[in-house]
Amino acid sequence: MLNTVFAPQVVGLSLLERETVHRRLARTVGNPAAKSALDMAIWDALGQSLDVSVTELLGGYTDRMRVSHMLGFDEPAAMVAEAERIRDTYGITTFKVKVGRRPVTLDTAVVRALRERFGTAVDLYVDGNRGWTAAESARAMKEMADLDLLFAEELCPADDVLGRRWLVSQVDVPFIADESAVSPADVTREILGGSATAISIKTARTGFTRSQRTHHLAEGLGLEVVMGNQIDGQLGSLCTVAFGASYELTARRPGELSNFLDMSDDLLAEPLSIADGELAIRPGAGLGAAIDPGKLRHYRLD
Ligand code: MG
Repeated sequence: MLNTVFAPQVVGLSLLERETVHRRLARTVGNPAAKSALDMAIWDALGQSLDVSVTELLGGYTDRMRVSHMLGFDEPAAMVAEAERIRDTYGITTFKVKVGRRPVTLDTAVVRALRERFGTAVDLYVDGNRGWTAAESARAMKEMADLDLLFAEELCPADDVLGRRWLVSQVDVPFIADESAVSPADVTREILGGSATAISIKTARTGFTRSQRTHHLAEGLGLEVVMGNQIDGQLGSLCTVAFGASYELTARRPGELSNFLDMSDDLLAEPLSIADGELAIRPGAGLGAAIDPGKLRHYRLD
């Protein structure tokens, strides 16, 4: 897609003609990941040309983010043990618990076990990936009312329009739109329609330019923002932290930056490391993402 469709449309443009690049990419419907990769490569090249980091170019707020770790479906004891391991190894104290199983008590028991084990030493939130109905979601949130959740994310489908509004109107924590709000227009529609009260930004699907627009929109609307993870490897995680560290609003909450820990290998010459619960941007120009040429040769698909 990049080589055959997008590259011929942008070769010859300057790195500063980003608006023109985006107008041309927009002529092709879909393909958000390819468009985002191209967009982020342009910002990386611009940073390298100017000898400043992408984070400084975007907003320069800070140089690191706290990290939130996702916990997948398992028995409560196994998920508590995994959370202990992640906390002890990386210092991470914010956990996003994947929910959406039936009956809802399978998942609410996990969240309760985590809260009982860690008390107030951890922050917890839940993501349903649209797995429950609105009524199941409401019941689950009632069962977890005493567990001091930070957020609830995509518990039921946004396409169940009235059910989702009914749910969001009664949930007493910010309700995050993730896969239901992947563009600034989606965010506007979902928020004004009462189907969400917070948003997830993922650089893998909106690059830096469109993520920046979504950030500005969220700031204008007064929304909480969480930097999300699209099963990113280390390069993707570096892009996420580079963007998230750029603004106060995106750096305020821990970012979902730890998915690469589940991967056995990666492309960066120098691996990322999470310490004391934080991931720092790379010093230097652009993204600071030196790619290992041997690994790139090994893993490339073209
Ligand atoms: Mg999600």
